[in-house]
Amino acid sequence: MKRIAVLTSGGDSPGMNSAVRAVVRKALFMGLDVVGIERGYVGLIQREFRDMTLSSVGDIIQRGGTMLKTARCKEFETLEGRAQAASNMRNLEIDGLVVVGGDGSFRGAQALTREHHIPTIGIPGTIDNDIPCTDSTIGFDTCVNTVLDAINKIRDTATSHERTFIIEVMGRRTGYIALEAGLAGGAESMLIPEVPYQIDEVADKLQKGMERGKRHSIILVAEGAGDVIEIGKHLNARTGLDVRVTILGHLQRGGSPTAFDRVLGARMGSKAVDLLLAGETARVVAIKNGEIIGMDIDYVLSQTKTIDMDLYVLANILSK
Ligand code: ADP
Repeated sequence: MKRIAVLTSGGDSPGMNSAVRAVVRKALFMGLDVVGIERGYVGLIQREFRDMTLSSVGDIIQRGGTMLKTARCKEFETLEGRAQAASNMRNLEIDGLVVVGGDGSFRGAQALTREHHIPTIGIPGTIDNDIPCTDSTIGFDTCVNTVLDAINKIRDTATSHERTFIIEVMGRRTGYIALEAGLAGGAESMLIPEVPYQIDEVADKLQKGMERGKRHSIILVAEGAGDVIEIGKHLNARTGLDVRVTILGHLQRGGSPTAFDRVLGARMGSKAVDLLLAGETARVVAIKNGEIIGMDIDYVLSQTKTIDMDLYVLANILSK
């Protein structure tokens, strides 16, 4: 192993820069050359390569997004696209590839290794925390804190006007953002895709709260848990409360990464280089009970991320 490459792919997340910085600096420390690939698999096919140095990753650790840029790439989903990418890598004598991204990006890495025997290591970078086998993904903690900040601000106006606010947060398939931000922000209800709910029960809970003297309520809804406008109309019709809807959207992806995400990125980036140097391939870096480990990519991609039901139950006990 003499030269490795690193790219970021799929949805960006805060802390990806910390992971790229760690891959580059750890690899250089270990005597490897490092190539940065721009715009994910697009750059791998179109040869958007650049040599990485210690200073090329300077002044990025505090920035959200990814300095290598990211993209989605239909061509990489074809045999021909991946053959072109593999040929480009061989021409540059790249011996291994680190992919920072979500499960789609990991499927790309898996196919590249299977078809062209190029060692690949995945690092989970996504705000959704929707990757199985890891307790957290890079960017999730920052996102939860961004949502928490929004809850705090909305709570100020909700209290003043005695309103009920529905806040839609990201999470098409998983409710982790809604659950953690809701628990941390003291939301009255969290509606998530993994747990079926009765909207009338949500309405009853709201009403009981108001009868107890509550002046406002906040309901967090993950994208995949239903249409927030419809939920708002239904709650208004059932309770007569003044219900407002806020969709947080893409602001949840941005911002300076938290210390947690920066440290996670640093540890995972370093581990990815260790794994390549140890001759490992087709691995995903994960954090389990505080430890950074390498997991088999086929196993990770065969699993489904499940919600932490203990946390869900606790959140519901506490949100009265
Ligand atoms: P994420 O990595 O955030 O889940 P996507 O699902 O959009 O994002 O995947 C990012 C890119 O990974 C895609 O644009 C495509 O180039 C590649 N990819 C996704 N799924 C596959 C697949 N099954 N085979 C090969 N490449 C894939």
